[in-house]
This record gives sequence, C-alpha cells and structure tokens, in this order.
Amino acid sequence: MALAYLLGKGASKALHTKINIPILLVLSILPDIDILSEFLFNHPIHRGPTHSIIVALLIFLPFFVIYRKKAIPYFLGLISHSLIGDFIAGGQLRLLWPLSQAEFGLHELGFPIIKVGSQTEILLELSLFVIATLVLIISKDWRVFFKGRLSNLVLIIPITTVLLPSTIGYPFNESLLITEPILALAHIFYAALFSIAILTTLKTLYQRWFGKKDNKKPDNHTNQPTIKTPYQFEK
Ligand SMILES: [Zn+2]
Repeated sequence: MALAYLLGKGASKALHTKINIPILLVLSILPDIDILSEFLFNHPIHRGPTHSIIVALLIFLPFFVIYRKKAIPYFLGLISHSLIGDFIAGGQLRLLWPLSQAEFGLHELGFPIIKVGSQTEILLELSLFVIATLVLIISKDWRVFFKGRLSNLVLIIPITTVLLPSTIGYPFNESLLITEPILALAHIFYAALFSIAILTTLKTLYQRWFGKKDNKKPDNHTNQPTIKTPYQFEK
C-alpha cells in the first residue's frame, strides 16, 4: 500500500490529476484476493491470474477510455503490487497469464531469493512505510482520513488485511506482534488511520440520514414568517 501510494501520488503530481487515496490503496492489495481461493475451493492459486499484468490491463481498458490519464495513477497502484512488491519478494508470478504460464520474479532473473517475512523484505517494507508516512504528512494527504467521504468506506478491505496478520497472525503462523513487532506497529498504524476514516464517514452518514428532521425545523421556522407576512398584508 505504501508503494502504491508513493507511485500513485508521484504520477498524479506529474500528470496534474487528482487521486482518491483510499481507492488507490485498495487497488494495491486487490491482487491478493486469490488467497480466498484457498479458503473457498481448497485450491491455492496464489500469484496466478489476479497478479497478471495482462488481466490488469484488460480490466483497466474501459477506465483508460473513460478517464484517460486520470486512470494512470490507479493502474500504477494496482500493478505495483505484482510488478514491484511481489516481484522483489517471493516472485513466482504468472505476470503474462493467460498468454504465458511462465513465472516471473527477481529470483527467477538470477538474483538471491527474498522471501516474504525475511529480514530483507521486512526492512524494505518498513522503509517504504516510513517514506510513505512522511509523504502523507508533508503533503497533508492524511486529512482525507478525517473527512466523511463515502469512498472512505472501501478502507474496510485493507483494515481486514492489515489487521489480520498483525492480530490473529493469518496468513503467517504467528501474530506479527510476536514475530515482528515493529512491522506490526506499521500495520496497526494503517488500521487505526483507516478505522478513523470509516468511523468519521459513518458519523457523517448518520448525521445526514437521521439528522435531517432536525435540520428541516429551522428552515420551516424561517420560511414561515416570510410566507405569512405578505399574506397577512394582502388580507
Ligand atoms: Zn500478491
């Protein structure tokens, strides 16, 4: 998510377009939806079609036609997951599925393997987290998480994916709080930030839906004299 944010942010600056950060963050973790296949069908297909650049391109084609350059930061956010993150850590990506079943990654290119959960991978993740957090603060992008925007509700997806590894430990054998407490803190930071965004949005929606009757009353009161007065004069 940190990587997608940095890339998406950079691209939006260069292209002079606006980005919706919560949607960008969700797109960056979407390829890992294939983890669900293990649960639903008892058939692990991790790093398969959902990590394919061809599939990402096909999905994004209509968005490129409609939104043109505005879609580029989101596309970069999505493909950064496979093309950079997973490519460096773990590899074994079917990047060109369905055109090719070949697996890609840094290790497949002849470099030493960087496993998910290894010290090198954790260091990379933490570095990206620190840089992304600094950019989030300096650019004042953090303010989006304190606004009651409907699109903030999509953050329920990363909340589940960042909270699960750092609390119950899935997909690792143990909780990150025990194995990698510093990395767990980064997860909890995002989870807290996203929870604030969701709660703020829910509060705004609640006020909009259930606070309507109260809001109408003053309007009626202010309208009544302006309607009544000319009517009374006419009489
Ligand atoms: Zn992945």
